[in-house]
Amino acid sequence: MILPLPVETPIQSASDPQALADAVAILAQGGCVAVPTETVYGLACDARHREAVAGVYAAKRRPGFNPLIVHVDSLERARTLVDLSSKGLALARAFWPGPLTLVAPKTAFAAVSDLATARLDSLAVRWPKSRTLTHLVKAVGRPLAAPSANASGTVSPTRAEHVKKSLNGCIHLILDGGPCPVGVESTIISLLDPDRPDLLRPGGVPRSSLETITGPLCHQAPLSETAPSSPGQSNRHYAPRARMRLNVTRPEPDEAYLGFGPHPEIEHSRFFNLSQSQCLAEAAANLFAGLHWLDSKTDQIAVAPIPEAGLGEAINDRLHRAAAHSESMSAIASGSRSA
Ligand code: AMP
Ligand code: MG
Repeated sequence: MILPLPVETPIQSASDPQALADAVAILAQGGCVAVPTETVYGLACDARHREAVAGVYAAKRRPGFNPLIVHVDSLERARTLVDLSSKGLALARAFWPGPLTLVAPKTAFAAVSDLATARLDSLAVRWPKSRTLTHLVKAVGRPLAAPSANASGTVSPTRAEHVKKSLNGCIHLILDGGPCPVGVESTIISLLDPDRPDLLRPGGVPRSSLETITGPLCHQAPLSETAPSSPGQSNRHYAPRARMRLNVTRPEPDEAYLGFGPHPEIEHSRFFNLSQSQCLAEAAANLFAGLHWLDSKTDQIAVAPIPEAGLGEAINDRLHRAAAHSESMSAIASGSRSA
């Protein structure tokens, strides 16, 4: 890291012009800044700057095979980085700026560090809606690589305090823009086979909206656990410390409960309702905050069934990965009991 790291990472308001100027100066010198986006908080750095990108991997303790999403502020800038097929262009025109990431072949002149792409010939690119992030791209004049601003494998951050808890002292600055409105990461579509777009990760743009443009999307299985085609697919991800049990309508007395809908019978203090009115957009926006809060209170979290429609696919994807750790621990425990 080129800039020395602070002992205590400052949190400044994303609407303070001085804080934005500080962020631009830090990014221009190869530092990293946590930035609010419409999906989750991202940890931004100059995508061309090798040491800056290395600093982001180090801060997150992220495996080097897991490439980063590169953020731009226009379709024109995206097209300097990737060759978008006609379906890719149609998707970009329909959903950018917004929570959609497109994976496409890198252009010959794409100036992005090979650390950010994990040395792949393809690149993941997004034009986000976040005014803070697009302002920074413009002001720095470079595409910004930005994975989620949390330690690799842990629950994603949707509040500035989640970032501080996970990465204090490992990054240069946190810009606080309040809660992230979408609350789950971007949807990732691979256009590497231009005739057969693949849904690599469900996210903030629901499948049904994308399919109006692409036709039916395939959902590619990960190639392997050590180098998946989209490591957000790796089985253990988004994991709280507590054990999790999914699709639970009646939690046990010792379990905290992540609910969805009216639950008049549940009265205890370790109850977080994702959406009283069963609104999936509200549930997505609350998901990671609910997991962070319950994880600080308990060792056992039971989760209500969530419908698979619309944003439910992304919510269930995150919940299954978050619970995968608990399932493997139970398998080990029952294996050792039967041994
Ligand atoms: P995160 O930044 O942690 O939200 O995750 C970014 C996601 O983008 C990860 O799942 C990466 O695997 C995925 N990604 C980035 N670049 C590529 C690429 N070239 N091909 C496939 N997936 C990618
Ligand atoms: Mg992440």
